[in-house]
Amino acid sequence: MLIIGSHVHFVKDQLVGSLEEALSYNANTFMFYTGAPQNTIRKSIDDNLTKEALKLMENNNISLNNIVCHAPYIVNLANSDAEKHNFSINFIKNELQRCKKLGITKLVLHPGSAVKISKEEGLNNIIDGLNKILEPNFPVILLLETMAGKGSECGSTLDELKYIYDNVIYKESLGFCLDTCHLNDSGVDLENFDEYLNEFAKQIGLNKIGCIHINDSKNEISSHKDRHENIGYGTIGFDNLLNIIYHKKLENIPKILETPYIGPDDSSKERLYPPYKFEIEMIKNKIFDENVLEKIRNYYKN
Ligand code: FE
Ligand code: FE
Ligand code: ZN
Repeated sequence: MLIIGSHVHFVKDQLVGSLEEALSYNANTFMFYTGAPQNTIRKSIDDNLTKEALKLMENNNISLNNIVCHAPYIVNLANSDAEKHNFSINFIKNELQRCKKLGITKLVLHPGSAVKISKEEGLNNIIDGLNKILEPNFPVILLLETMAGKGSECGSTLDELKYIYDNVIYKESLGFCLDTCHLNDSGVDLENFDEYLNEFAKQIGLNKIGCIHINDSKNEISSHKDRHENIGYGTIGFDNLLNIIYHKKLENIPKILETPYIGPDDSSKERLYPPYKFEIEMIKNKIFDENVLEKIRNYYKN
């Protein structure tokens, strides 16, 4: 079954708000940050809202198992500064507990950035952090995201991800999240996606892929930029993305759109309109719609 959704807001009404937003896009999954992605301020989970959300999910045939949480991108396990490293460890532990409380089984994490230290040191700090975070048989799996390799980002190659994976003790509590924009920008040719997938299967194992972020890219392969583009408007292209979305070996893995909001016109810097309802529709129809930007603007304008 195709499991498709987008990232959505969480702060208003927690899971209920997220779910209602996802339903407005005709999605059957979604991903959310438990607070602002740029900071680590978090409100406590309201059990009544969670209960209400679970009922609403049941009514709409949405499985909690497919819903994904994303840790804020400012936590950095690669940091050598002991205080910052420990802060990140504790924050992620808390975030895993928050997921557990919500019944969410997947938490996506950017591995980290090796700022002012070597890549190797950064990777070892990440491993150290993960070994302090992960527990055996924990109900929430931590998914490391494949990165574009912007700046000093760790985890932009299969070798780096495998190095982390090999050195983590409780492997059953660790998985991975592929991001198509990041893969392209890191140097993976998505025209030959099977090659990458076979390599991933050999090095780590396809059963370790817990989520896939579906984004087109504004930049060429190997650009190490990480700028997402709307589906069909970037260098990856609609057909290559569709091939990944409907790949037989990736069935039943949640696919999450993180494409940019649309401005009121092409030159506008204001980004007001979520594209997800229409991108999901194109994905379900398997046909790229040349008028999709116009349709999005018309739909949300009023
Ligand atoms: Fe991410
Ligand atoms: Fe992503
Ligand atoms: Zn990105």
